[in-house]
Amino acid sequence: MPHTIVSDICEGVASCFQACPVECIKPGQGGNMKGTNYYYIDFNTCIDCGVCLEVCPVKGAVIAEERPDLQIN
Ligand code: SF4
Ligand code: SF4
Repeated sequence: MPHTIVSDICEGVASCFQACPVECIKPGQGGNMKGTNYYYIDFNTCIDCGVCLEVCPVKGAVIAEERPDLQIN
């Protein structure tokens, strides 16, 4: 099951963007509810490796399940 970036918790740090081995993390358009940049995961490409979750410094921004209701694409 793909991972999800919770759009309104993400702070756009981009550690995950650089670490993803299959380059399926993309920058979102505009800002989130916090007023920061955010990224999102292409669920169709994600291989569920968990690297993004390990490197993200923002608690709760990445979750190990597919939750399209929490992620703005
Ligand atoms: S999910 Fe975490 S590492 Fe990725 S952009 Fe958002 S805050 Fe940064
Ligand atoms: S779980 Fe792995 S493949 Fe999926 S978005 Fe995170 S780093 Fe990329």
